[in-house]
Amino acid sequence: MKALALTAPGTVNVIETEIPTFGSNELLIKMLGVGICGSDLSVFEGHRKVPSYPWIMGHEGVGEIAGIGEDVKGRVIGEKVVIEPNYCCFNCPPCRAGVTSGCLNRVIVGMEVPGLLSEYAVVPDPFAWKAPDYLSLEELVCLEPLTVGVAAMRRTNTELDHRCLVIGAGSTGLMLINLLSIKGIEVSFVEPHAERSELAESIGAHKHLPGSMESFDRIFETSGTAVGFETAISLSAPGAKIAVIGLGTEPANVISTDIVRRRLSIVGSMIYDHPQDFSSTISDAPKGLSRIIQGKYTLSEAQKAFESAPLVPGKSWFSLSDLGE
Ligand SMILES: [Zn+2]
Ligand SMILES: [Zn+2]
Repeated sequence: MKALALTAPGTVNVIETEIPTFGSNELLIKMLGVGICGSDLSVFEGHRKVPSYPWIMGHEGVGEIAGIGEDVKGRVIGEKVVIEPNYCCFNCPPCRAGVTSGCLNRVIVGMEVPGLLSEYAVVPDPFAWKAPDYLSLEELVCLEPLTVGVAAMRRTNTELDHRCLVIGAGSTGLMLINLLSIKGIEVSFVEPHAERSELAESIGAHKHLPGSMESFDRIFETSGTAVGFETAISLSAPGAKIAVIGLGTEPANVISTDIVRRRLSIVGSMIYDHPQDFSSTISDAPKGLSRIIQGKYTLSEAQKAFESAPLVPGKSWFSLSDLGE
């Protein structure tokens, strides 16, 4: 089969490799589409180390069932599925407490096991969700990153009447803005990059103007910068909840008095918890997600796709439907 592999940091190539074998509780999936996000880019650029080269990348995938393990029940060949690419162990203390995002043995697809940018991939049965039939392939590719937003909304009890602010309009931030605006929730954003701002405005968000006296009930920090975190605190209304999603490394300048006097709740929102967040995404997936898709590529265009993804506002994805022909 064909697969897209990182052959060295900064270089991807289409390679020929064996179709993987699958176990009794697994499914063989023929891949149809795979989205790329910031964590793929950090793998591509070599900031995030992979176990070996050539390494098959990609974790935001949609495909159809092409093989069914002997102990798997209730599946049919050809069923379209969205993959939940974080496999938890179900056994460790966080898993037993229902917080699988904290699983001590979590396996991340495309980071620790080969990724989904290939003709076929093997997925454990509980992590292949039957795809809603009313969404296009492009929309289905958005469901994994959408679930990050769904989990952040759940963890902050975000309701329709909350004034929301999204900090950072990269692919996670835009997905959240899109989700909030589709749900009819008033959403503002902070983003220095002009083209990303335009895209955020085009999907219904208001640009927060520096110096305005507005404050917010729910804040989603996706930029992973110190200034983003400082902005989250400074723009919070009394009693606000802040979901921190971006993974920053710089210390932020924050005063505890602001947190205490405003009675803020700050929640670290790590991916999503199995099965509840994917389950709610799948059962309530909105149309219109593809508004933030800006680039569609085939595997032969992958080098260009990865090189241009940091510059293109919105999300890029690969169509794999013409592979193997
Ligand atoms: Zn992703
Ligand atoms: Zn676990």
